Amino acid sequence: MEDALVLARTSSSVTVIHRRDKFRASRVLQQRVLQHSKITVRWNSQVKEFTAAETAMDDGSYPVGHVVVTDTVSGEESSIDCDAAFVAIGHSPNTDFVKGALEMDENNYIKVTPGSSHTSVEGVFAAGDVHDHVYRQAITSAGSGAMAALDAERWLSETGFVVEEDPAESSAVPTDIAGGQNETGEGSKDGSEDGVDVDDASAAAAAAASASFDKDL
Ligand SMILES: Cc1cc2nc3c(=O)[nH]c(=O)nc-3n(C[C@H](O)[C@H](O)[C@H](O)COP(=O)(O)OP(=O)(O)OC[C@H]3O[C@@H](n4cnc5c(N)ncnc54)[C@H](O)[C@@H]3O)c2cc1C
Repeated sequence: MEDALVLARTSSSVTVIHRRDKFRASRVLQQRVLQHSKITVRWNSQVKEFTAAETAMDDGSYPVGHVVVTDTVSGEESSIDCDAAFVAIGHSPNTDFVKGALEMDENNYIKVTPGSSHTSVEGVFAAGDVHDHVYRQAITSAGSGAMAALDAERWLSETGFVVEEDPAESSAVPTDIAGGQNETGEGSKDGSEDGVDVDDASAAAAAAASASFDKDL
């Protein structure tokens, strides 16, 4: 539903192909889609295949030109002309890059300790859609980002990574944590201190810096 509404902002017409005869989305969202002048819904229809347009593009390749759909009730096939096709079925969190490293639920959402952003690995915090299969909204993602920043800051303090300094003396992230040169002038980007990778710590430190206004929470 949301995808169709977003596409309708820039497309002359949008056809939603839906395999059932009703939507499961919220009533408000359904109304917005069904009443939208640019959106048409093909009920009881399933995509069989996408086929190419007749005319090649400048680089010689052929864009999508048609969608072949099967009517789930009658079994009849028909073709819809189109200039682009977008697949939006269910939700798949973009968590492949941490697969095997962090504990996840059966739908590949990262598991966190309830009420926090702590993952199954100490020092790794999750925020946003990668861990939230319920709300998946910009505002809840931003909120959980703030939680992760605070958790990261606490973790850095507790593990001794953050050296409390007088803000008047230094407003910059310490260069040895930020991956630049340390006080002795030696580069520390690839180094490791106290068993924690400095590059990983610099990312967490950046998040922590943005939350430092609220240290006492
Ligand atoms: C069509 C559509 C309409 C929506 N409409 C609304 C709406 O009206 N209101 C609302 O509140 N929410 C809406 N949402 C949901 C909202 O966009 C998301 O909940 C929100 O963007 C999630 O924020 P996030 O930071 O978790 O993830 P994202 O915004 O997806 O940000 C993740 C970032 O991580 C980057 N990234 C991914 N993999 C890697 C990697 N391996 N290394 C480094 N970077 C990486 C990505 O490039 C991206 O910049 C909509 C979503 C869609 C798809």
